[in-house]
Amino acid sequence: MSISSNLNEIKNNIENIKSELSIERDITLIAVSKTVDSNRVLEAYNSGQLEFGENKVQELIKKYEELNNSDIIFHMIGHLQTNKVKYLVNKVKLIQSLDRLSLLKELEKRGKNNNYVFNCLIELNLAKEESKTGLHEEDLPELIEKIEECNYVKVKGLMTVAPYFEDLEKVRVYFKKLKDIYENLASKKFKNITMEYLSMGMSHDYKVAIEEGSNMIRIGTSIFGERNYD
Ligand SMILES: *Cc1c(COP(=O)(O)O)cnc(C)c1O
Repeated sequence: MSISSNLNEIKNNIENIKSELSIERDITLIAVSKTVDSNRVLEAYNSGQLEFGENKVQELIKKYEELNNSDIIFHMIGHLQTNKVKYLVNKVKLIQSLDRLSLLKELEKRGKNNNYVFNCLIELNLAKEESKTGLHEEDLPELIEKIEECNYVKVKGLMTVAPYFEDLEKVRVYFKKLKDIYENLASKKFKNITMEYLSMGMSHDYKVAIEEGSNMIRIGTSIFGERNYD
């Protein structure tokens, strides 16, 4: 299957879920292009895809420079080391992996130095899987308190990578949980925090994620095929 037919199939699926459930909201599709080279990113772009997700800063910057096209929008979706933050100034729409105080501190510092505001999503690890990054729910109040003190960091929503289960009903609880937290934060009106993006759903679980309220899905394999890590 070609990238363009894969993209069309996903868009059709999204439209079908939306009409089945009478969902009115827009759902943003992020094409996760980690390990995928710039030519294939360009192929997706030429099929109408504008937003891409990368999980490594170096790889993101390389593609940003190779593609050299201001219509192509990148998101940082992977674990972000503090010493790499400086490279992302002006390069990404959202850092979706804000998951700890030390990273917040570095974002604020680099933002201030460059007079640049970082737009972020808080990444939550609801199942507390040790193999995964992401903030634990009980650490959220402390992070929020510090976000309210920032001048160069804005939080625009939440992101999660749900645990992998063959049985999608077991995944659903985590999406429900993230949606609850999202609604709760939206009602609280914290400084520097608005809830615009609920980023949840990947190749195997995006349908359930949309059913549970996602408005941003991050799809790699179903667009570009299985990843080759060598
Ligand atoms: C790799 C990745 C995805 C996409 O996963 P697929 O299963 O290939 O769709 C989505 N989100 C994050 C954070 C990822 O690292």
